[in-house]
Amino acid sequence: MKPEYQIAVLPGDGIGNEVMQAAEQVLQALQKRTGVALALSTQKAGAQHYLDSGVALPEATLKACEAADAILFGAMGLPHVRGADGTEIIPQLDLRFHFDLYAGVRPIRTFKGLPTPLASPKAAEIDLVLVRESTEGLFYARGRGETRPDGVYDTMQITRKGTSRICEFAFRLAERRAAQKGRAGRVTNVDKANVFASMAFWRKIFEEVAAKHPGMAADSAYVDAMALNLVMKPWTYDVLVTENMFGDILSDLIAALVGGMGMAPSADIGDRHALFQPAHGTAPDIAGQGKANPTAMILSAAMMLDWLGDRHDDIRLKDGAGLIDRAVEQVFSSGQVRPFEFGGTSSTADITRAVIGGL
Ligand code: ATP
Repeated sequence: MKPEYQIAVLPGDGIGNEVMQAAEQVLQALQKRTGVALALSTQKAGAQHYLDSGVALPEATLKACEAADAILFGAMGLPHVRGADGTEIIPQLDLRFHFDLYAGVRPIRTFKGLPTPLASPKAAEIDLVLVRESTEGLFYARGRGETRPDGVYDTMQITRKGTSRICEFAFRLAERRAAQKGRAGRVTNVDKANVFASMAFWRKIFEEVAAKHPGMAADSAYVDAMALNLVMKPWTYDVLVTENMFGDILSDLIAALVGGMGMAPSADIGDRHALFQPAHGTAPDIAGQGKANPTAMILSAAMMLDWLGDRHDDIRLKDGAGLIDRAVEQVFSSGQVRPFEFGGTSSTADITRAVIGGL
């Protein structure tokens, strides 16, 4: 337990600024309620900062993140701002690699009071977590693409260390969820072991790690079949673990299952550092209009409190996370607010106010 927790706040670009303001207001209200002290310090980074200064992720921001107890991140990148190689400015990837944030944690659940695109009543039971390996896989190729006379080659990297630690993380998460929810737990590995040697190796390691966790059910599926199953019967899954690129794609798919990107929080967790951000990007199409749904950002802040609470054995933080989660559930189930992305008229400020009122 610490008297005060240092939080590096990186709002970024587009709606990142708007949803971060919402999360900061919720955290400030929570501090008054629980007595927990959070020192939120805003840091510069992102595509706009790159335009202004020529640097996307300044050294001072990296140092502040290094010194902080946790990093709260909005969204970064603007479609028209590109580096010399034509790719977008995405400092979040640099942060993931710099701080070795290997576990991308993407929880998804259905909220009562909000429509889902799935017709089945079973959709109300969706409650799963996608764990995405975030430091290797196909993203290893970033900045390393090899140009040959006939084209460009990107390499997928799957190491024993990288795969073991992400599978271990997934099983520990499943064990924790099983204990919290008082039911059995299950980890489903998603790969393409029928085609690629790297993926066959990944599966072998998954099975080795699974053998160390006999209390958890374990199974595997090919990523193409999983894309189908996540639309047909997502309520049957608990924890999924997968390679970086597959996880990138499937995390947007699962966000769609519950109706929108604005409901999907996420965390990038390493052994020493962790960053919490909504699964969505900067959404330039709605930026500056007050229409962004801040829920994913607010729920990411709750994940941060939960992680800090575990790490520092501070029950006040874990209670704070629970308060936010319950307030979010209540504002939607009561019909008090409905975000624009669900066909409603509640602004970012309306939703923030409602969540604060429910704390
Ligand atoms: P990236 O390429 O980083 O994923 P993007 O801006 O292309 O970023 P997203 O921001 O992830 O894509 O979102 C896709 C679309 O979903 C947006 O254009 C926007 O219409 C909608 N959207 C995303 N986040 C929100 C939100 N918090 N509230 C409302 N709508 C959102």
